[in-house]
This record gives sequence, structure tokens and C-alpha cells, in this order.
Amino acid sequence: MQSDKKINKSVNKVPVREQAPDKRNKNFEEVCLGYNSDEAVEEALRCIECGLCRKGCPVEIDITSFIQYIKEKKFDEAIKKIKESNALPGICGRVCPQETQCEELCPKGKKGDPVAIGKLERFVSDYEMEHSKEEKLKITQNNIKVAVVGSGPAGLTCAGELAKKGYSVTIFESFHSFGGVLRYGIPSFRLPRDILDREIENIINSGVKIIPNVLVGKSLTLQDLMDDGFKSIFLAVGAGLPIFMNIPGESLNGVCSANEFLTRNNLMLAYEKNAETPIRTESPVIVVGGGNVAMDAARAAKRLGAENVIVVYRRTEKEMPARVEEVHHAKEEGIEFHFLTNPLEIIKDENGWIKEIKCIKMELGEPDDSGRRRPVPIKDSEFTMKANTYIVAIGQKPNPLISRSMPELELSKWQTVNVDENMMTSMKGVFAGGDIVTGAATVISAMEMGKKAAVGIDNWLQTKS
Ligand code: FAD
Ligand code: SF4
Repeated sequence: MQSDKKINKSVNKVPVREQAPDKRNKNFEEVCLGYNSDEAVEEALRCIECGLCRKGCPVEIDITSFIQYIKEKKFDEAIKKIKESNALPGICGRVCPQETQCEELCPKGKKGDPVAIGKLERFVSDYEMEHSKEEKLKITQNNIKVAVVGSGPAGLTCAGELAKKGYSVTIFESFHSFGGVLRYGIPSFRLPRDILDREIENIINSGVKIIPNVLVGKSLTLQDLMDDGFKSIFLAVGAGLPIFMNIPGESLNGVCSANEFLTRNNLMLAYEKNAETPIRTESPVIVVGGGNVAMDAARAAKRLGAENVIVVYRRTEKEMPARVEEVHHAKEEGIEFHFLTNPLEIIKDENGWIKEIKCIKMELGEPDDSGRRRPVPIKDSEFTMKANTYIVAIGQKPNPLISRSMPELELSKWQTVNVDENMMTSMKGVFAGGDIVTGAATVISAMEMGKKAAVGIDNWLQTKS
């Protein structure tokens, strides 16, 4: 049913305001400024209410209904509708890879731009932050204690869902600050900290307790938690261990993982003057990889003052796993890309610092297991490039700390935790979800698993006795 007389038939989405590239590449303020209410209504009016997009959203937001409320300028109703399915809308509206999820299924995308679902989601979330107060839910407590390990999107979502059902939920987090990769990985120019703080605060206000500085597996064991009366445990510890290429020179001065680089910047605030945990960005900065992590590291290095930042990727732009918007923004900000190039060795100067890298040219061969064409080295095409900083961003895997402290936990060959259809691990009452189960994935897939685990935990606790 199309209820609005004034339909926006444009094939292009309403343009989104952004900071100018030559200004934003020198600050950590948000790049995308989002829609105002008139722009949001105009964009919402492009929606033809087919409902197909919902199938592309892992947490199944009723997208058509929330967009309908925006058309009617009922923004409070729109955010309520989103929150029926998603507790972190300001975050997802900003960082979800919409082009391969909800927006991919929008028929408008066949002849132009899909409806900007993510931008509309962030608009209503920001509107709520500015104009209204989060309503406190009335919850009847059941006094059953559940522990969640890790405060990333999987842990926060599971905790929030269980608190709504009346459980007494405590999240244990190893860092001093909450949010997981949302805090220490994704920089503030993509996800402002006030948005992150507010959405975590909403989860805390729903009755969840978060305890920082507890490394489960070291400072507390799972047995300690069980002895303390926790009846079920959800492991949401992510996949935070960086993968290196294992080429000569990776332990030289001036070489680090993107994980370390971004954590120093985002969590330890290395961008502030006189920061206690400084960071090296001596140019040229080489970033190896083609995902969101590589884009974030390169763009952060630029903002930290590096004049010349080069992303080196072994396939072509088409195969890059990074979000299209991030690659586009990186290019606008002056990041250089060397495609079909792979590093072979990092070469040191007389003081043990990196001075250049030896690379080889690649070409694309047959598709590999991921379906992408395999990069193949071109014989005798080696060359060297000057490099003063080198950041490795080729992937992350699970940290073995938890699994070492729980030998009964069944793992896959990739060291991820195996779970059944209810997200329960091989240990009764211990559930897992997010990157620790899938390997490095996305915020919304971690949230989807957090929601599913909350249902699994609830069913298990209600039926086991
Ligand atoms: P995490 O977010 O990793 O959280 C795990 C938490 O557990 C952490 O806070 C950690 O400190 C804590 N922890 C670990 N071990 C212990 C322990 N033993 N005891 C207590 N606490 C522990 N996805 C997108 O959808 N869009 C993006 O744009 C995007 N960009 C990204 C950029 C970067 C730089 C990175 C690294 C990832 C990005 N991702 C993106 C991926 C996404 O952030 C992750 O898939 C998601 O955060 C996984 O959520 P999680 O809850 O499973 O784990
Ligand atoms: Fe799209 Fe992500 Fe929002 Fe779902 S949560 S509607 S996938 S932007």
C-alpha cells in the first residue's frame, strides 16, 4: 500500500552531506554528516514499500514500517519500530555493509541508487539521541544469573536481550572500556564515540552490569563464574589476534599490526597531543590488505599526519572486501592504492628500522575457495618501494586464551568455537557467538548471533530443571 501522495521518483538517492576530503583527512570528526529531517523524509519517499529489503537484514528489522513512519514524520515511532529488532541502530546505520545486505535487495538499485536504508536508520537514531529520552522498560526480574564474556556487539546484544527477559546479566570485559572492535578498531571518523557511548548506556540502562578489566581465562576462570552462581555463560570474545604474513622483516622497528595501530589510536588516544601511548606514522606508510581494517588504518595514518599513505593489495579493487563507501572515502582523502602487488620482504636500515619493502607484481588466476580469482605472482616482477612505517591488515583470528583455559571446548580447524543450532558449545550451558564462532565477520552478524544465543540460553535455562 503506497499511502503518500508525494512520491519521490528520483533514481538517485538524496545526497548525503559530508566533511570535505581535504579538511576531514586532518581530523577525527565524523566524515558523513547524515540527513536532516527534510532530507530523510525526501529519501524515505523513494521507498516503494515492497518489503524485500527485510530479508537482507540479518536481524530482520521491519524496514518498510520504519521508513513509512519517517514519511509521516513520526520519528519517535520509527525508532521504536527499529528497536524491536536492533538495539544498536546508530552503530549499524553507520557501519553495516548495507550494499551487500538490506540495500542490495532494494529494487530501486536496479536502475539507480537503492533507498539509503542505513542512512535513514542512523537519522532516526540520531534524532532520538537529540530529542527524546530512552524509555525505561518495566522488567520483572527472575534473579537467574548469566555471565557474558566480552562487550563487543555480540556480547552487548545477547546481554540486552536477556535483561529484557528478566535475567540478571553481567558482562566481563578485559579492556578498561566497552564496545569491543566498535571501540578499539573502528575509528571515530566512522563511528563517533558519543553514539557508541549512548547505545552502550541504553544496554546498561536495561539492567545489564558491565565489569571492566577482567580477563576471563586468566584473572577469572569459567569455573569461578559457575561457582559464583552464574547458571549460563555466553562467550563473545571476538577474533582479535592479528595474522601476519610470515615474511622476513615483520619484527623490525616501524612494523606493526593494524590491530595494534588502531588500538593505540582509538583506545589509547594516540592522536591527542602528549599521548602516553604514541604511534609511529613516518611517511611513506604502507598498509597491506584490502578490508575495512586496512582502510581504517590507512585513513587514521593520514589523519595522524602521514603525507604519503599507500595501500598494497594483492588482488584488484573489484575483489576488495572493504565497504565500497570506505574505499571511495579513502581515495578522496588522498590514500594511494597499489593493486596486484604483494610484499615479499621488509628491509632494514643500519639501525634496525624499516627502510623499504620488496614486492612482487601479481595477476589474477582461477577462482579460489572464496570464489574470488586467485592472485598469482608474475615471474621476475620483483621491485622495491620506500617505506618508513608498515602496517599489516590481512586478517584476525581467535585469541587462544579462552580455549586454552577450557580444554573441553570443541574448536574448528580454524580455532573458532563450534556451536550447535542454538549457539551452545560442546560444554553444557556455555554458549558462544560473534567472531569467535565465525572468524572475523561483521557487526550485524555478531549481533544476529547474540540474539540467537539469548533465545538459546533462555530456552535452556527454562527447560533444564
Ligand atoms: P569483538 O567486537 O571483537 O568484541 C570482543 C570483546 O571481547 C572485546 O571487547 C575484547 O576486549 C573482549 N575479550 C576478548 N577476550 C576476553 C577475555 N578473555 N575476557 C574478557 N573479555 C575479553 N564490521 C562491520 O560490520 N562494518 C565495519 O565497517 C567494520 N569495520 C571493522 C574495522 C576494524 C578495524 C575491525 C577490526 C573490524 C571491523 N568490522 C566491521 C568487524 C566487526 O567489528 C566485528 O565482526 C565485530 O565487532 C565482532 O563482534 P564480537 O562481539 O564478536 O567481538
Ligand atoms: Fe540494513 Fe544493517 Fe540496518 Fe539491517 S541493521 S537494516 S542490514 S543497515
